[in-house]
Amino acid sequence: MRSVTIIGAGPAGLSAARVLVAAGLRDVLLLERNPEAGGLPRFCDHLGWGVLDLHRFWRGPRYARELVTRAAGAEIRTNTTVTAMAAGGSLHVSSPDGPAVIESRAVLIATGIRETPRGPRLVSGTRPWGVMTTGAFQEMAQARQIPFRSPVIIGTELVAFSAIMTARHAGISPVAMIEVNPRITARRPGDLIARHVFSVPVLTDTRLVTIKGVDRVEGIVVEQQGQRREITCDGIIFSGAFVPEAFLARASGLAIDPGSGGPVIDNFYRCSDPSYFAAGNILRPVEHSGMAAREGVLAAGAILQALGAGLPRPDAAIPVSIGGAMRYAYPQRLVLADDKPLGLFGRARIAHQGRLRVLCDDAVIASRPITILPERRLAITIAARDLVGRSAVSILLD
Ligand SMILES: Cc1cc2nc3c(=O)[nH]c(=O)nc-3n(C[C@H](O)[C@H](O)[C@H](O)COP(=O)(O)OP(=O)(O)OC[C@H]3O[C@@H](n4cnc5c(N)ncnc54)[C@H](O)[C@@H]3O)c2cc1C
Repeated sequence: MRSVTIIGAGPAGLSAARVLVAAGLRDVLLLERNPEAGGLPRFCDHLGWGVLDLHRFWRGPRYARELVTRAAGAEIRTNTTVTAMAAGGSLHVSSPDGPAVIESRAVLIATGIRETPRGPRLVSGTRPWGVMTTGAFQEMAQARQIPFRSPVIIGTELVAFSAIMTARHAGISPVAMIEVNPRITARRPGDLIARHVFSVPVLTDTRLVTIKGVDRVEGIVVEQQGQRREITCDGIIFSGAFVPEAFLARASGLAIDPGSGGPVIDNFYRCSDPSYFAAGNILRPVEHSGMAAREGVLAAGAILQALGAGLPRPDAAIPVSIGGAMRYAYPQRLVLADDKPLGLFGRARIAHQGRLRVLCDDAVIASRPITILPERRLAITIAARDLVGRSAVSILLD
Protein backbone atom coordinates (compact mmCIF):
# COMPACT_ATOMS: atom_id res chain seq x y z
CA MET A 1 0.00 0.00 0.00
CA ARG A 2 1.26 3.49 -0.93
CA SER A 3 1.55 6.30 1.57
CA VAL A 4 -0.05 9.01 -0.55
CA THR A 5 -1.65 9.22 -3.98
CA ILE A 6 -2.59 12.60 -5.44
CA ILE A 7 -5.29 12.89 -8.12
CA GLY A 8 -4.47 15.79 -10.44
CA ALA A 9 -1.04 17.25 -11.25
CA GLY A 10 -1.97 20.95 -11.26
CA PRO A 11 -0.62 23.64 -8.90
CA ALA A 12 -2.40 22.14 -5.86
CA GLY A 13 -1.35 18.53 -6.49
CA LEU A 14 2.23 19.35 -7.49
CA SER A 15 2.74 21.72 -4.54
CA ALA A 16 1.46 19.03 -2.19
CA ALA A 17 3.78 16.46 -3.78
CA ARG A 18 6.77 18.77 -3.28
CA VAL A 19 6.04 19.06 0.45
CA LEU A 20 5.45 15.32 0.89
CA VAL A 21 8.70 14.42 -0.89
CA ALA A 22 10.63 17.06 1.06
CA ALA A 23 9.32 15.47 4.27
CA GLY A 24 10.94 12.19 3.25
CA LEU A 25 8.08 10.18 1.70
CA ARG A 26 9.53 7.95 -1.01
CA ASP A 27 6.33 6.61 -2.58
CA VAL A 28 4.26 9.68 -3.46
CA LEU A 29 2.24 9.04 -6.63
CA LEU A 30 0.59 11.69 -8.81
CA LEU A 31 -2.08 10.59 -11.27
CA GLU A 32 -2.82 12.95 -14.18
CA ARG A 33 -5.30 12.29 -16.95
CA ASN A 34 -3.57 14.64 -19.42
CA PRO A 35 -0.46 13.64 -21.41
CA GLU A 36 1.62 16.15 -19.38
CA ALA A 37 1.64 17.26 -15.76
CA GLY A 38 1.08 20.93 -14.89
CA GLY A 39 -2.70 21.42 -14.80
CA LEU A 40 -4.49 24.43 -16.20
CA PRO A 41 -1.49 26.78 -16.44
CA ARG A 42 -0.07 24.61 -19.21
CA PHE A 43 -2.75 25.98 -21.52
CA CYS A 44 -2.55 29.64 -20.49
CA ASP A 45 0.34 31.13 -22.40
CA HIS A 46 0.11 34.56 -20.83
CA LEU A 47 1.80 36.32 -17.92
CA GLY A 48 0.41 36.35 -14.38
CA TRP A 49 1.50 33.02 -12.89
CA GLY A 50 3.56 32.21 -9.82
CA VAL A 51 3.08 35.62 -8.23
CA LEU A 52 2.07 34.51 -4.75
CA ASP A 53 3.72 31.11 -4.40
CA LEU A 54 6.99 31.54 -6.34
CA HIS A 55 7.22 35.36 -6.35
CA ARG A 56 7.61 35.31 -10.11
CA PHE A 57 5.55 36.80 -12.93
CA TRP A 58 5.66 34.00 -15.49
CA ARG A 59 3.66 32.61 -18.36
CA GLY A 60 1.48 29.60 -17.48
CA PRO A 61 3.55 26.88 -19.21
CA ARG A 62 6.77 28.18 -17.56
CA TYR A 63 5.06 28.13 -14.16
CA ALA A 64 3.73 24.60 -14.77
CA ARG A 65 7.20 23.31 -15.72
CA GLU A 66 8.69 24.83 -12.57
CA LEU A 67 6.07 23.14 -10.35
CA VAL A 68 6.81 19.79 -12.01
CA THR A 69 10.55 20.30 -11.47
CA ARG A 70 10.00 21.12 -7.81
CA ALA A 71 7.93 17.96 -7.32
CA ALA A 72 10.90 15.79 -8.39
CA GLY A 73 11.01 12.62 -6.35
CA ALA A 74 7.28 11.97 -6.73
CA GLU A 75 6.20 9.47 -9.36
CA ILE A 76 3.98 11.15 -11.96
CA ARG A 77 1.79 8.90 -14.12
CA THR A 78 0.27 10.85 -17.00
CA ASN A 79 -2.51 9.63 -19.31
CA THR A 80 -3.94 8.07 -16.18
CA THR A 81 -7.51 8.89 -15.17
CA VAL A 82 -9.04 8.05 -11.82
CA THR A 83 -12.47 6.65 -12.62
CA ALA A 84 -13.71 5.76 -9.12
CA MET A 85 -12.75 6.29 -5.49
CA ALA A 86 -13.77 3.60 -3.04
CA ALA A 87 -13.90 3.87 0.74
CA GLY A 88 -10.59 3.86 2.58
CA GLY A 89 -8.36 5.28 -0.19
CA SER A 90 -8.82 2.67 -2.94
CA LEU A 91 -8.63 4.21 -6.44
CA HIS A 92 -9.75 2.70 -9.73
CA VAL A 93 -7.66 4.04 -12.57
CA SER A 94 -7.64 3.75 -16.33
CA SER A 95 -4.48 4.20 -18.41
CA PRO A 96 -3.00 2.89 -21.68
CA ASP A 97 -1.82 -0.12 -19.60
CA GLY A 98 -5.45 -0.94 -18.80
CA PRO A 99 -7.51 -0.68 -15.63
CA ALA A 100 -5.88 -0.95 -12.20
CA VAL A 101 -6.63 -0.43 -8.51
CA ILE A 102 -4.26 1.62 -6.34
CA GLU A 103 -4.48 1.43 -2.54
CA SER A 104 -3.12 4.29 -0.45
CA ARG A 105 -3.15 5.31 3.17
CA ALA A 106 -4.13 8.84 2.15
CA VAL A 107 -5.45 10.32 -1.09
CA LEU A 108 -5.39 14.00 -2.02
CA ILE A 109 -8.07 15.04 -4.52
CA ALA A 110 -6.75 17.99 -6.53
CA THR A 111 -8.84 17.76 -9.68
CA GLY A 112 -9.47 21.50 -10.18
CA ILE A 113 -12.48 23.01 -11.92
CA ARG A 114 -14.37 22.91 -15.17
CA GLU A 115 -16.15 25.66 -17.07
CA THR A 116 -19.88 25.47 -17.74
CA PRO A 117 -20.30 24.69 -21.45
CA ARG A 118 -23.20 25.80 -23.64
CA GLY A 119 -25.70 23.04 -22.71
CA PRO A 120 -26.33 23.89 -19.04
CA ARG A 121 -26.42 27.61 -19.89
CA LEU A 122 -29.68 27.00 -21.80
CA VAL A 123 -28.83 29.18 -24.81
CA SER A 124 -31.23 28.71 -27.72
CA GLY A 125 -30.47 28.68 -31.45
CA THR A 126 -28.58 26.42 -33.83
CA ARG A 127 -25.62 24.19 -32.99
CA PRO A 128 -22.89 25.23 -35.44
CA TRP A 129 -19.15 24.61 -35.15
CA GLY A 130 -17.19 27.31 -33.31
CA VAL A 131 -18.76 27.29 -29.83
CA MET A 132 -16.39 26.35 -27.00
CA THR A 133 -15.21 27.11 -23.47
CA THR A 134 -12.10 29.18 -22.70
CA GLY A 135 -10.31 25.98 -21.66
CA ALA A 136 -11.02 24.23 -24.97
CA PHE A 137 -10.05 27.36 -26.89
CA GLN A 138 -6.77 27.72 -25.03
CA GLU A 139 -5.95 24.07 -25.59
CA MET A 140 -6.52 24.52 -29.36
CA ALA A 141 -4.55 27.77 -29.44
CA GLN A 142 -1.63 26.07 -27.73
CA ALA A 143 -1.71 23.35 -30.38
CA ARG A 144 -1.60 26.22 -32.95
CA GLN A 145 -5.13 25.51 -34.19
CA ILE A 146 -7.17 28.61 -35.02
CA PRO A 147 -10.86 27.79 -34.52
CA PHE A 148 -12.16 31.28 -35.46
CA ARG A 149 -10.99 34.81 -36.27
CA SER A 150 -13.61 37.08 -34.69
CA PRO A 151 -15.40 35.42 -31.76
CA VAL A 152 -17.52 36.94 -29.00
CA ILE A 153 -16.60 36.17 -25.42
CA ILE A 154 -19.47 35.43 -23.05
CA GLY A 155 -18.65 36.46 -19.47
CA THR A 156 -16.23 38.88 -17.84
CA GLU A 157 -14.53 36.83 -15.12
CA LEU A 158 -10.74 37.02 -15.03
CA VAL A 159 -10.53 34.06 -17.41
CA ALA A 160 -12.41 36.03 -20.06
CA PHE A 161 -9.46 38.42 -20.04
CA SER A 162 -7.14 35.42 -20.22
CA ALA A 163 -9.11 34.41 -23.34
CA ILE A 164 -8.52 37.86 -24.89
CA MET A 165 -4.78 37.56 -24.29
CA THR A 166 -4.65 34.06 -25.75
CA ALA A 167 -6.70 35.24 -28.72
CA ARG A 168 -4.37 38.16 -29.37
CA HIS A 169 -1.36 35.87 -29.16
CA ALA A 170 -2.96 33.64 -31.81
CA GLY A 171 -3.89 36.54 -34.12
CA ILE A 172 -7.60 36.34 -33.25
CA SER A 173 -9.63 39.54 -32.67
CA PRO A 174 -12.65 39.11 -30.36
CA VAL A 175 -15.50 41.40 -31.45
CA ALA A 176 -17.14 41.87 -28.01
CA MET A 177 -17.35 40.71 -24.42
CA ILE A 178 -20.90 40.11 -23.19
CA GLU A 179 -21.85 40.44 -19.52
CA VAL A 180 -25.36 39.90 -18.21
CA ASN A 181 -24.73 41.95 -15.05
CA PRO A 182 -24.45 45.76 -14.82
CA ARG A 183 -20.67 45.57 -14.20
CA ILE A 184 -17.84 43.24 -15.14
CA THR A 185 -17.12 40.33 -12.81
CA ALA A 186 -13.32 40.78 -12.78
CA ARG A 187 -11.90 43.77 -11.00
CA ARG A 188 -11.98 47.15 -12.66
CA PRO A 189 -10.20 48.45 -14.68
CA GLY A 190 -10.54 45.14 -16.61
CA ASP A 191 -13.25 46.68 -18.79
CA LEU A 192 -11.07 49.70 -19.60
CA ILE A 193 -8.15 47.41 -20.47
CA ALA A 194 -10.40 45.34 -22.74
CA ARG A 195 -11.73 48.45 -24.48
CA HIS A 196 -8.63 50.59 -24.75
CA VAL A 197 -5.70 48.14 -24.76
CA PHE A 198 -7.30 45.28 -26.73
CA SER A 199 -10.04 47.26 -28.56
CA VAL A 200 -12.72 44.79 -27.44
CA PRO A 201 -16.09 46.44 -26.59
CA VAL A 202 -17.53 45.29 -23.26
CA LEU A 203 -21.35 45.09 -23.34
CA THR A 204 -22.76 44.98 -19.81
CA ASP A 205 -26.44 44.41 -18.93
CA THR A 206 -26.49 42.28 -22.05
CA ARG A 207 -27.93 38.79 -22.44
CA LEU A 208 -27.08 36.22 -25.12
CA VAL A 209 -30.40 35.17 -26.62
CA THR A 210 -29.66 33.03 -29.69
CA ILE A 211 -26.77 31.57 -31.64
CA LYS A 212 -27.05 31.79 -35.44
CA GLY A 213 -25.33 29.82 -38.19
CA VAL A 214 -25.68 26.45 -39.88
CA ASP A 215 -22.24 24.87 -40.28
CA ARG A 216 -20.25 27.64 -38.59
CA VAL A 217 -21.26 30.36 -36.17
CA GLU A 218 -22.44 33.40 -38.17
CA GLY A 219 -23.62 35.65 -35.37
CA ILE A 220 -25.50 35.99 -32.13
CA VAL A 221 -28.59 37.86 -31.01
CA VAL A 222 -28.23 39.77 -27.74
CA GLU A 223 -30.71 41.69 -25.65
CA GLN A 224 -29.77 44.96 -23.94
CA GLN A 225 -32.40 46.98 -22.04
CA GLY A 226 -35.25 45.20 -23.84
CA GLN A 227 -33.73 45.84 -27.31
CA ARG A 228 -32.49 42.95 -29.42
CA ARG A 229 -29.70 43.21 -31.96
CA GLU A 230 -27.45 40.94 -33.95
CA ILE A 231 -23.65 40.82 -33.63
CA THR A 232 -21.70 39.25 -36.48
CA CYS A 233 -19.04 36.82 -35.25
CA ASP A 234 -17.57 33.46 -36.30
CA GLY A 235 -17.17 31.86 -32.88
CA ILE A 236 -18.31 31.95 -29.26
CA ILE A 237 -16.14 31.50 -26.20
CA PHE A 238 -18.14 30.66 -23.09
CA SER A 239 -15.88 31.78 -20.28
CA GLY A 240 -16.09 31.21 -16.58
CA ALA A 241 -19.18 29.97 -14.70
CA PHE A 242 -16.80 27.48 -13.11
CA VAL A 243 -17.79 24.45 -11.09
CA PRO A 244 -15.41 22.23 -9.11
CA GLU A 245 -14.39 19.04 -10.92
CA ALA A 246 -16.17 17.08 -8.19
CA PHE A 247 -17.86 14.35 -10.22
CA LEU A 248 -15.59 11.67 -8.74
CA ALA A 249 -16.07 12.92 -5.20
CA ARG A 250 -19.84 13.01 -5.63
CA ALA A 251 -20.02 9.58 -7.28
CA SER A 252 -17.91 8.07 -4.52
CA GLY A 253 -20.30 9.25 -1.82
CA LEU A 254 -18.12 11.95 -0.23
CA ALA A 255 -20.22 14.71 1.33
CA ILE A 256 -20.57 17.63 -1.13
CA ASP A 257 -21.32 21.23 -0.19
CA PRO A 258 -24.20 22.44 -2.40
CA GLY A 259 -22.95 26.05 -2.07
CA SER A 260 -19.33 25.56 -3.18
CA GLY A 261 -20.00 22.47 -5.32
CA GLY A 262 -16.85 20.89 -3.83
CA PRO A 263 -16.34 18.26 -1.15
CA VAL A 264 -17.05 19.15 2.46
CA ILE A 265 -13.71 19.46 4.30
CA ASP A 266 -12.56 20.22 7.80
CA ASN A 267 -9.69 22.55 8.69
CA PHE A 268 -7.26 19.69 7.96
CA TYR A 269 -8.53 19.52 4.34
CA ARG A 270 -10.03 16.14 5.29
CA CYS A 271 -13.16 14.94 3.49
CA SER A 272 -16.08 13.03 5.00
CA ASP A 273 -14.09 9.79 4.42
CA PRO A 274 -10.92 10.59 6.44
CA SER A 275 -8.68 8.72 3.96
CA TYR A 276 -9.45 11.46 1.44
CA PHE A 277 -8.20 15.06 1.52
CA ALA A 278 -8.96 17.82 -1.00
CA ALA A 279 -7.12 20.99 -2.05
CA GLY A 280 -7.13 23.61 -4.79
CA ASN A 281 -9.98 24.58 -7.04
CA ILE A 282 -11.90 21.37 -6.35
CA LEU A 283 -12.87 23.12 -3.10
CA ARG A 284 -14.84 25.92 -4.81
CA PRO A 285 -15.09 27.69 -8.15
CA VAL A 286 -11.89 29.22 -9.45
CA GLU A 287 -9.24 30.97 -7.37
CA HIS A 288 -5.80 31.99 -8.58
CA SER A 289 -3.03 29.42 -8.68
CA GLY A 290 -1.19 30.82 -5.65
CA MET A 291 -4.21 30.04 -3.50
CA ALA A 292 -4.52 26.51 -4.95
CA ALA A 293 -0.79 25.91 -4.39
CA ARG A 294 -1.03 27.16 -0.79
CA GLU A 295 -3.92 24.80 -0.11
CA GLY A 296 -1.92 21.94 -1.59
CA VAL A 297 0.93 22.75 0.80
CA LEU A 298 -1.38 22.94 3.81
CA ALA A 299 -3.19 19.73 2.86
CA ALA A 300 0.17 17.97 2.51
CA GLY A 301 1.07 19.14 6.02
CA ALA A 302 -2.17 17.67 7.34
CA ILE A 303 -1.57 14.39 5.49
CA LEU A 304 1.91 14.11 7.02
CA GLN A 305 0.36 14.62 10.44
CA ALA A 306 -2.32 12.01 9.68
CA LEU A 307 0.33 9.46 8.65
CA GLY A 308 2.49 10.31 11.65
CA ALA A 309 1.17 11.34 15.04
CA GLY A 310 -2.42 11.35 13.77
CA LEU A 311 -5.02 14.07 13.37
CA PRO A 312 -7.74 14.92 15.89
CA ARG A 313 -10.83 12.76 15.47
CA PRO A 314 -13.13 14.07 12.72
CA ASP A 315 -16.30 13.26 14.64
CA ALA A 316 -15.56 16.07 17.09
CA ALA A 317 -16.02 18.64 14.31
CA ILE A 318 -18.15 21.75 14.70
CA PRO A 319 -20.32 22.31 11.59
CA VAL A 320 -20.24 25.69 9.85
CA SER A 321 -23.50 26.92 8.33
CA ILE A 322 -24.16 30.00 6.22
CA GLY A 323 -27.10 32.39 5.87
CA GLY A 324 -28.38 35.50 4.14
CA ALA A 325 -26.43 36.44 1.03
CA MET A 326 -23.60 33.94 1.65
CA ARG A 327 -23.05 31.43 -1.16
CA TYR A 328 -20.56 29.21 0.59
CA ALA A 329 -17.89 29.07 3.27
CA TYR A 330 -15.17 26.48 3.79
CA PRO A 331 -13.91 24.55 5.70
CA GLN A 332 -17.44 23.43 6.39
CA ARG A 333 -16.34 21.64 9.58
CA LEU A 334 -13.96 22.89 12.27
CA VAL A 335 -11.95 20.57 14.50
CA LEU A 336 -10.36 22.22 17.50
CA ALA A 337 -6.77 20.98 17.81
CA ASP A 338 -4.69 23.70 19.47
CA ASP A 339 -4.90 27.40 20.27
CA LYS A 340 -4.14 28.58 16.71
CA PRO A 341 -6.82 30.74 15.02
CA LEU A 342 -8.88 29.01 12.32
CA GLY A 343 -9.23 30.58 8.87
CA LEU A 344 -12.28 30.28 6.62
CA PHE A 345 -12.99 31.56 3.12
CA GLY A 346 -16.29 32.29 1.50
CA ARG A 347 -18.16 34.20 -1.14
CA ALA A 348 -21.48 35.99 -1.45
CA ARG A 349 -24.23 34.89 -3.85
CA ILE A 350 -24.99 38.44 -4.98
CA ALA A 351 -23.59 41.94 -4.73
CA HIS A 352 -24.41 42.87 -1.17
CA GLN A 353 -24.10 45.76 1.22
CA GLY A 354 -24.93 44.99 4.83
CA ARG A 355 -23.37 43.33 7.85
CA LEU A 356 -21.21 40.24 8.22
CA ARG A 357 -21.83 38.37 11.45
CA VAL A 358 -20.07 35.29 12.81
CA LEU A 359 -21.88 33.38 15.54
CA CYS A 360 -20.64 30.52 17.72
CA ASP A 361 -23.90 28.97 18.92
CA ASP A 362 -25.84 32.12 19.91
CA ALA A 363 -22.81 34.28 20.75
CA VAL A 364 -21.88 36.91 18.15
CA ILE A 365 -18.07 36.79 17.96
CA ALA A 366 -17.68 39.19 15.01
CA SER A 367 -19.91 41.76 13.39
CA ARG A 368 -18.86 44.34 10.83
CA PRO A 369 -20.36 46.34 7.98
CA ILE A 370 -19.48 44.94 4.57
CA THR A 371 -19.85 45.73 0.87
CA ILE A 372 -19.08 42.71 -1.26
CA LEU A 373 -19.36 41.49 -4.84
CA PRO A 374 -20.01 37.81 -5.68
CA GLU A 375 -16.52 37.18 -7.03
CA ARG A 376 -14.64 38.71 -4.13
CA ARG A 377 -13.14 36.34 -1.60
CA LEU A 378 -14.22 36.77 2.00
CA ALA A 379 -11.65 35.76 4.63
CA ILE A 380 -12.81 35.09 8.17
CA THR A 381 -10.67 34.18 11.18
CA ILE A 382 -12.07 32.59 14.31
CA ALA A 383 -10.03 32.47 17.52
CA ALA A 384 -9.75 28.94 18.94
CA ARG A 385 -10.99 30.13 22.34
CA ASP A 386 -14.31 31.22 20.76
CA LEU A 387 -14.93 27.62 19.69
CA VAL A 388 -14.32 25.95 23.02
CA GLY A 389 -17.49 24.20 24.17
CA ARG A 390 -19.45 25.32 21.08
CA SER A 391 -21.49 23.07 18.82
CA ALA A 392 -22.17 25.27 15.76
CA VAL A 393 -20.72 28.19 13.80
CA SER A 394 -22.88 30.40 11.57
CA ILE A 395 -21.65 32.95 9.03
CA LEU A 396 -24.36 35.41 8.07
CA LEU A 397 -24.47 38.22 5.51
CA ASP A 398 -27.53 40.25 6.47
C1 LIG B 1 -8.46 30.51 -18.39
C2 LIG B 1 -7.83 30.63 -17.03
C3 LIG B 1 -6.82 31.56 -16.80
C4 LIG B 1 -6.21 31.66 -15.55
N1 LIG B 1 -5.22 32.57 -15.35
C5 LIG B 1 -4.56 32.61 -14.17
C6 LIG B 1 -3.43 33.47 -13.97
O1 LIG B 1 -3.05 34.24 -14.86
N2 LIG B 1 -2.79 33.42 -12.76
C7 LIG B 1 -3.19 32.58 -11.77
O2 LIG B 1 -2.57 32.57 -10.70
N3 LIG B 1 -4.26 31.76 -11.92
C8 LIG B 1 -4.96 31.76 -13.09
N4 LIG B 1 -6.02 30.91 -13.25
C9 LIG B 1 -6.42 30.04 -12.12
C10 LIG B 1 -5.57 28.76 -12.10
O3 LIG B 1 -5.69 28.10 -13.32
C11 LIG B 1 -6.02 27.84 -10.99
O4 LIG B 1 -6.04 28.52 -9.77
C12 LIG B 1 -5.09 26.63 -10.81
O5 LIG B 1 -4.81 26.00 -12.03
C13 LIG B 1 -5.77 25.66 -9.84
O6 LIG B 1 -4.92 24.58 -9.60
P1 LIG B 1 -5.50 23.12 -9.26
O7 LIG B 1 -4.32 22.27 -9.04
O8 LIG B 1 -6.50 23.24 -8.19
O9 LIG B 1 -6.31 22.66 -10.55
P2 LIG B 1 -5.88 22.46 -12.08
O10 LIG B 1 -4.78 23.35 -12.49
O11 LIG B 1 -7.16 22.54 -12.84
O12 LIG B 1 -5.33 20.96 -12.12
C14 LIG B 1 -6.18 19.87 -11.91
C15 LIG B 1 -5.60 18.67 -12.64
O13 LIG B 1 -6.36 17.51 -12.29
C16 LIG B 1 -6.45 16.69 -13.43
N5 LIG B 1 -7.58 15.78 -13.25
C17 LIG B 1 -8.89 16.11 -13.11
N6 LIG B 1 -9.64 15.00 -12.95
C18 LIG B 1 -8.79 13.95 -12.99
C19 LIG B 1 -8.97 12.55 -12.87
N7 LIG B 1 -10.17 12.00 -12.68
N8 LIG B 1 -7.89 11.75 -12.96
C20 LIG B 1 -6.63 12.27 -13.14
N9 LIG B 1 -6.41 13.60 -13.27
C21 LIG B 1 -7.47 14.43 -13.18
C22 LIG B 1 -6.63 17.69 -14.57
O14 LIG B 1 -6.31 17.12 -15.83
C23 LIG B 1 -5.68 18.80 -14.16
O15 LIG B 1 -4.40 18.64 -14.72
C24 LIG B 1 -6.65 30.83 -14.50
C25 LIG B 1 -7.69 29.89 -14.71
C26 LIG B 1 -8.28 29.81 -15.96
C27 LIG B 1 -9.41 28.83 -16.17
